[in-house]
Amino acid sequence: MKEGLMQTVKAGENIFCKGEQGEHAYIIERGQVDISFKRGERSIRVASLGPGEIFGEMALIDNRERSATATAAIDCELLVIRREQIQAVLKTADSTVSLLLEVLLGRFRSMQGRLDFSSEPSAVIAQSTESLRKAERYRHRNAIDRLKLERELEQAIEENEFQLLMQPIISMTTGRPAGFEALLRWDHSERGYIPPDQFIAIAESTDLIQSIDLWVIRHAFRQIREIHNAIEAPLGPLPFVSINLSGVSFTSDKALTLIQDLVEESDIDPSIFKIEITEGVLIDNPKQVSIMLDRLREMGVQIALDDFGTGYSSLSYLVAFPISTIKIDRIFVSNMLVDGRSLEVVRAIISMAHTLDLKVIAEGIENVPELQSLWQMNCDYGQGFLLGRPLDMEKAVAYAKRGPVMTTGPVMLQN
Ligand code: C2E
Ligand code: CA
Ligand code: CA
Repeated sequence: MKEGLMQTVKAGENIFCKGEQGEHAYIIERGQVDISFKRGERSIRVASLGPGEIFGEMALIDNRERSATATAAIDCELLVIRREQIQAVLKTADSTVSLLLEVLLGRFRSMQGRLDFSSEPSAVIAQSTESLRKAERYRHRNAIDRLKLERELEQAIEENEFQLLMQPIISMTTGRPAGFEALLRWDHSERGYIPPDQFIAIAESTDLIQSIDLWVIRHAFRQIREIHNAIEAPLGPLPFVSINLSGVSFTSDKALTLIQDLVEESDIDPSIFKIEITEGVLIDNPKQVSIMLDRLREMGVQIALDDFGTGYSSLSYLVAFPISTIKIDRIFVSNMLVDGRSLEVVRAIISMAHTLDLKVIAEGIENVPELQSLWQMNCDYGQGFLLGRPLDMEKAVAYAKRGPVMTTGPVMLQN
């Protein structure tokens, strides 16, 4: 049976007892939980926790038995955090921080042990636990939010709470949509829309990113096929789909195999897939990534270097890796007309790319002067709110069918 995300506990029920092996920690969504120790026959309450607070995490951090008993004071609803989640966070934590945490926990447990059997009044125990709890509450706020989001993210994949929007990429030579970048959205049942910047990094620190990347590949493929099918008489090549893949996807060949299967199962031209990667991915794992990129290129898939200009922007990457396209970061495009140096950077990137036989996509075009300037510099493709926002499928299909977006002047055409 699948473990539930939420657990309901009735007033008076124990959530766990002292001495048990712990498999879960809990975040209180609703209700109140008492933490207590037994002294002889007496049960001494040392803390009373409310919504938003975490408990049961200690046994998962140091892999020891439960040091106290947790009881629902009133009916409770608890968000269940699995051992692996905590362990994954610890694995990626700074080693000094992990060590400090171990030492601290060791001290806390030994203090707890002493207090447990001493004849000190329970108030002392309560006080020491209370002050520790206050400090913890402050420090753990972010960590708790993060754990919650992680657990919900797992559920989001199963519940299909994701949506893949398609942002048009326009050819500056034809004025027509040349492709779409697939951009992920999480439509959270309670928090509403959550932008990728807020959950991709969390997913990347766990195994979840693998499942998300595979989901994105499958849906991007399905959606671009739907767009192709809607274009009745193509005037040029069918639009490509750009997919953002995280570094983790290059550590196994799952993503690559999926793309290969999708291409083989259909009669589609593999070059409709453009994989976007950042320099960070190349730097973190150059050998492995290089092998994967070579295989993708052999299959006919295109590779774009995303956010170019923001990282190290080492020119050696452009030669060392089989890259077909550079995406100039939005920051340069938005500064270009107010800062002469940004303009020269953009000009130099385009000219260098063309010398190396690479295509250039300028990101974040928000006004006509920016578009005109890029067109004059012979930029190949443009993307940005001026040309089209990330669209749902209904709007993306209509967009793809509507023909030129700008004349090659370039003058924007009205809708
Ligand atoms: P990115 O790959 O650089 O994507 C472009 C971001 O710029 C998108 O934000 C897009 O909505 C935004 N954008 C496009 N044109 C304009 C413009 O003219 N003005 C402004 N201000 N913004 C513009 P979004 O969708 O919020 O995505 C943010 C980042 O999240 C992406 O940056 C990408 O790194 C990541 N991401 C998005 N979708 C996925 C995905 O499916 N998988 C992975 N691994 N990462 C994704
Ligand atoms: Ca991108
Ligand atoms: Ca980008």
